[in-house]
Amino acid sequence: MDDCIFCKIARGEIPANKVYEDETVLGFYDLDPQAPVHVLLIPKEHIASAAEITPENSSVVAHIFEVAAKLSKELGLANGFRIVNNCGRDGMQSVQHLHFHLLGKRRMGWPPFPPEE
Ligand code: AMP
Repeated sequence: MDDCIFCKIARGEIPANKVYEDETVLGFYDLDPQAPVHVLLIPKEHIASAAEITPENSSVVAHIFEVAAKLSKELGLANGFRIVNNCGRDGMQSVQHLHFHLLGKRRMGWPPFPPEE
């Protein structure tokens, strides 16, 4: 999509600190990290959100999880990690291109409480 920031990163039109790339998936460090390791994994193909995953495009999601497992070893996340997908308004999705946050190297909290008013 022309005006999608993650499509622009996937096309190389906007710089990103890439940590992984292949034909269908890109991994790059989040600009505003919420953990010592905070990588975003995206399909290069524009999929607006997790609500738009279909039988036709879902194989890239499995591939993203394979990449996450590989990166977890390379980035030293042997103690564990969290993969987050925010979807839609209530999910607090801010970039309308499917992405998975890979977060690690700190202990996470649970459950995810609503933001404070
Ligand atoms: P979400 O709120 O789940 O939609 O996550 C969007 C994430 O994209 C946020 O964590 C932002 O910090 C991150 N982000 C936005 N623009 C960029 C960018 N140009 N490069 C890297 N990360 C970005």
